[in-house]
Amino acid sequence: MSDSDGPFDCDGCGAAVALEDARRTKTMGGLDPTKWQTLCCPDCGSRLRTVYVGD
Ligand SMILES: [Zn+2]
Repeated sequence: MSDSDGPFDCDGCGAAVALEDARRTKTMGGLDPTKWQTLCCPDCGSRLRTVYVGD
């Protein structure tokens, strides 16, 4: 498995956010949204990581 399974440490509030709890948004910078998603903290909204969700 990759390192994109979480949990992800939030820089904003210090929470450890599980992959299924993270808020998913489109990436910035025009990456293909079907392949890349940005995970955000559900508590404070800080960006956690951009993960590859395509094949
Ligand atoms: Zn947070």
